[in-house]
Parts: sequence; structure tokens; C-alpha cells
Amino acid sequence: MAGILIVAEQLDGTVQDISAELIGAAVSIKEQIGGPVQVLVIGQVPADLAKAVNLEGVDEILTIETASDHFDPLIYEEVVCQVGFGSKPSVVLIGHTASGMAYGAAIAARLGSGFASDVFGLGMDGDELIATRSAYSNKVEMELGFSGKAVVVLTLRGATFTPPKELGNGVVTAVEVDISMLVGVLSHVEYQDAPPSDIDISKADFILSVGRGIQVKDNLTRFAELADKVGATFGCSRPIVDNGWLPVQHQVGQSGNVASNCQLYFALGISGAVQHLFGMKHIDTIIAVNTDPEAPIFNVATYGTTVDLFELTDALEQLF
Ligand SMILES: Cc1cc2nc3c(=O)[nH]c(=O)nc-3n(C[C@H](O)[C@H](O)[C@H](O)COP(=O)(O)OP(=O)(O)OC[C@H]3O[C@@H](n4cnc5c(N)ncnc54)[C@H](O)[C@@H]3O)c2cc1C
Repeated sequence: MAGILIVAEQLDGTVQDISAELIGAAVSIKEQIGGPVQVLVIGQVPADLAKAVNLEGVDEILTIETASDHFDPLIYEEVVCQVGFGSKPSVVLIGHTASGMAYGAAIAARLGSGFASDVFGLGMDGDELIATRSAYSNKVEMELGFSGKAVVVLTLRGATFTPPKELGNGVVTAVEVDISMLVGVLSHVEYQDAPPSDIDISKADFILSVGRGIQVKDNLTRFAELADKVGATFGCSRPIVDNGWLPVQHQVGQSGNVASNCQLYFALGISGAVQHLFGMKHIDTIIAVNTDPEAPIFNVATYGTTVDLFELTDALEQLF
């Protein structure tokens, strides 16, 4: 048993960002785990998809041709197990996404491996792999070891691990697997795009977010206008969405959107509940405005002020 097997994720023929993040995570433990880093690409024309995952640190890309690009959890499970039984990796990495969650645990059961989901930290304790995940609704973090397990299957949280910056020179190998027993078991009915929105929190580099501190819906317009004037994407905490004031595309956090590419986060009247922090605490520069000096948002803020957010907004409106 050696090496790391990564399952690349694609949607409608496009490799998803999580794939490169899985590679970044694998590279961070490659030396200690030993063996090759292999990326498994499954799709109709997998050789095309292979280019997107040929990143620094990847030794081999295993391509599996399937009849369709549409995700089928049974086919992914079967392919990963057949490849896994053959190449015998020590670690299998899958995205903690809607797709990854549909087959990750099944693979672990079939391989008899250790398993952890929604992992956001990877490290080593001597020779032992340690995975960090949260528990009790994100209130505690726990570190898991997998002693006695020859294989460990992990689903990794998105927007958490840094993808390699450079291209790699992994060898592309077409692999044959027998999935004939699964043909026709599931059929793809329709792919539905998410409702159109001009907001994409995950791609925004500057976000101005408001929370319950703005008090009433009528106040929303002035903050939306301020966001527009300063060139920020308009974000919010969950109560704003739950009240029906903004659609969920604006919501930052665990049940909303992760601000994956944000450099500057301006939080107005947001307390900093763990579920909100989930979507933004990684951001390099966080400016928090909250009249409560004990508000948890200040634990992650780069700059903070306890000034009344309306007074600050008055001043900013004069400036912009
Ligand atoms: C399963 C689950 C998933 C969740 N997912 C999310 C999620 O994705 N995103 C999310 O945001 N939440 C989420 N939540 C809700 C979360 O737990 C909090 O309830 C929510 O984040 C609180 O929003 P808030 O900070 O706007 O409101 P509050 O916690 O009420 O904070 C408002 C803040 O405004 C400050 N304030 C008030 N007036 C002023 C003023 N005039 N000037 C300056 N500051 C002022 C107050 O001091 C207070 O700290 C989730 C909860 C659960 C259980």
C-alpha cells in the first residue's frame, strides 16, 4: 500500500475547482505518505479533462472512459474500488461535495478502509495520517487517526486546500474497468442549472456583507448601493436570507456560500456565528463593524471597530 489516489470531479464536462484543491492537499502529505500521486479522471473524453488536473506533484493521471459525462455515483464507486484494489493506495481523496458525498462512504465500506468526511486539515503524527474535521455543529474541531487501517478514504472540504500553482508532467494512462453490470441501472434525466444570479460569492474578491445589525429591510438598499459604489459584491448573513430580504446567492456561510476567492471582507452588524465564519474566516483581510466588543467576529477580524454601523456608513457615503 502506497501513494495517494485522487478522484477528480467534473460537471458537464468541466473539471471542478475541488479537483485541484484535492491535488494541493495530496501534495502537502505526499512525501510522508510515500508513493505516487495518481488522479482518476472519469468521463466521456477523459483525456481532455486530464489536462486540467496535470498539476505540479501529480505523477500519473488515470483516465476512465464512460458513456456519459453525467455523474453516476454507482459508476464512480465501482471505478474507484476497481482501481483502488489494483493500485492499492494508502489514501483516497474525494471532494466533500454533493457528488463526493454520494459515493465516498460506500468506497470506504467496500475497501474496509478508515474514513472521515468534511475534512479541512491534513497532517502527520509520525507515520500516522491525521485528519481534522469539526463536530457538534462546528463547535469543536477533532483530529482523527486511523491506526491499523491500510487505506484511508477522506472527503475534503472545498475552498480549504491550496491548489498547486504550476503545471505538472504526470503521465496519462488509460485504464480499462468493467462497469458493464451498471449500465442502465441509473439514468440521467435532466441537468438543471441553479437559478440565474449576477452574484457569485465564491468568485468575489471584495465582499461587503450585512447582518441582523442593519435592523430592518428598508435599510438594505443603502448598503447595497454602498457595496456597488465601493466595487464590492453584496453579501449577507443567514437571517437576512431567512427574512426573505435577499436570495441565498448572497448568503455567506455553511448553508450559503464560501467566499473562496475573497481578499477583503467588510462585515457590518454580523456577530460571527461559527456557521457564518465557515464561509469567510480564511479571508486575508477582514474588517468587522459591531457595537458588541465581545462579538466573535472580532476573533477573526484583521481590523475591527465597535462604532455604530450606521454612523460609519454615513461617513463612507460622504467619501464615495
Ligand atoms: C445548520 C445551520 C446553518 C447555518 N448557516 C449559516 C450560514 O450559512 N450563514 C450565516 O450567516 N449563518 C448561518 N446560520 C445562522 C447562524 O448560527 C447565526 O444565527 C447567524 O449567522 C447570525 O447572523 P447575524 O450575525 O447577522 O445576526 P446576529 O447574531 O443577531 O448578530 C447581529 C450583530 O449585529 C450587531 N449590531 C447590532 N446593531 C448594530 C449597530 N448599530 N452597529 C454595529 N453592530 C450592530 C450586534 O452586536 C450583533 O453582534 C446557520 C445556523 C444553523 C443552525
